[in-house]
Amino acid sequence: MEKALLVIDYTVDFVAVDGALTCGEPGIALDNYITKLTTTFLEEGHFVVMSVDVHDIDDPYHPETKQFPPHNIRGTAGRDLYGTLQHLYEERKDEIHWMDKTRFSAFAGTDLELHLRARKITELHLVGVCTDICILHTAVDAYNRGFNIVIHEKGVASFDPAGHEWALRHFEKTLGATIVR
Ligand code: ZN
Repeated sequence: MEKALLVIDYTVDFVAVDGALTCGEPGIALDNYITKLTTTFLEEGHFVVMSVDVHDIDDPYHPETKQFPPHNIRGTAGRDLYGTLQHLYEERKDEIHWMDKTRFSAFAGTDLELHLRARKITELHLVGVCTDICILHTAVDAYNRGFNIVIHEKGVASFDPAGHEWALRHFEKTLGATIVR
C-alpha cells in the first residue's frame, strides 16, 4: 500500500504566537512531532505534501474574507512553515511537494488527487491545523474519494478543545480513520 503525508497549514500565521489567525500553544506543541514524521516519510521515500492556504488581500470573491482576519496572504512571511518544519523544508525542498490551496480542504480546487492517483497512493496521513477545520474538511474529501485515512493525534491541534475532540471522534467513528495515539 502506497502512502503519503499531508502536512496541512502548519504556517506562521496559523501557529506562531503572533500569527494572524493562530491556534496558539496547541499548534506550537506539534512542531517536533510533525518535523520528525515528515523526516521519516522522506527517509522512506514517500510522497510528502505541504498543503498551504493562500489568499489575496481583501479578495471580495472569497468567503473567508468576511469570516476571518487576513491570513496567509500571498507573498508574506505568514505563509512560511512554522518552526523546525521550515528548516527541514529549506534543507529538503527538492523532495517535498508544495501545494497552495484556497479553501479548507486540500482537495478543493487543487490537483492533489491527480498527484495521489498517479503515484497509486491509497493511504493518506494527515497532520497540521486545525483539527476541526482544514484537517476535517480534507479528511471528509479523502473519505469521499476512497482513500484510507490515518490521523496522528500528536500531529493535529485546534484553538477549540471541544472541536478538536469532536473531530477526532468523527475521524474514527464516521470516516473509519486510524488514529495514531
Ligand atoms: Zn484561509
